[in-house]
Amino acid sequence: MPSEWEIKNQICEIGRRMYDKGFVAANDGNISYRLGGGRYLCTATGVSKGSLKPTDIAVVDDTGKQIEGDLPATSEILLHLEIFHELPEINAVCHAHPPHATAFAVAGMEIPTCILPEVEIFIGRVPLAQYDTPGSKQFAESILPHLRNKANTILLSNHGVVACDKDLLHAYWHIETLDMYCNILLLGKQVGDIRQLPTPKVRELLEIKQQMGIDDPRTDGVGELCTLSGSDDFLRGFSTRAIPQHTPDEDGHGRGAGIAGAPSQAGQPQPLPTGERIYPAVVAGREIPGSPLGSSSETARRRAAEDEMERLVQVITDKIIQIMGAGK
Ligand SMILES: [Zn+2]
Repeated sequence: MPSEWEIKNQICEIGRRMYDKGFVAANDGNISYRLGGGRYLCTATGVSKGSLKPTDIAVVDDTGKQIEGDLPATSEILLHLEIFHELPEINAVCHAHPPHATAFAVAGMEIPTCILPEVEIFIGRVPLAQYDTPGSKQFAESILPHLRNKANTILLSNHGVVACDKDLLHAYWHIETLDMYCNILLLGKQVGDIRQLPTPKVRELLEIKQQMGIDDPRTDGVGELCTLSGSDDFLRGFSTRAIPQHTPDEDGHGRGAGIAGAPSQAGQPQPLPTGERIYPAVVAGREIPGSPLGSSSETARRRAAEDEMERLVQVITDKIIQIMGAGK
């Protein structure tokens, strides 16, 4: 069991990582730790997480009343205490505003699941808590139903993310993993159509997760296995095309087998709209209105036309400058 001083230093280190990663601006974000005996360490209000000192860490009791520390404790301590009271196995809580994950929070969209294996195992479904004023009791209680549903990472509507675990590093890692994941989703949407993992493969991941002792309500059949929600425009960036799966070779090693049943897609162009349906019109059980599916290719075509126009304008501008220069 690390000493109180060591934990304070760990909090400073996690604060630096959050700030360096751009997960918090100015004095945003807060970190807390359960010491036991009804005592909790938490960051002070009004200090940058990028330059925390052990003396910037306050100690509060079960009700959030400050019992030690030179600076006042974070105003969001009630959110942290809600987690500590509800989940006795949890010792650390991190709260930040990581931009890619918070983009989903401001759009009021739940983050799609069943896309990256590591995210399924270490985080799972990230619920979206309803909005309330930060620092209020109602705000703290907004996460309660999700804690009861075993979520270790929760998206806070129009605000940010709160994550918890047995120790500080793991609580912080959930935020880092989630923001990287959301960044990949946003980039993937621009590259092509994002594909979800097939259901049997998601079940395999849930089994691995169970063996690792990480709770996931989906293992017990609670909630949807895979979620995909959002605006029609966002969903147009997803595809229900199956991901070609690897099949082991006869020697059991899969060497040389490549991707089962499908030629390599390397170097192959994305399908262009041909007027016929390339992708199904229904994504995640929702009919996506609007024009021919494969609309990301449509967007690409429009962008190419805009680029061509921009290039022409540049050529004409260069020509005029050249003529004017020659006339001097
Ligand atoms: Zn906040």
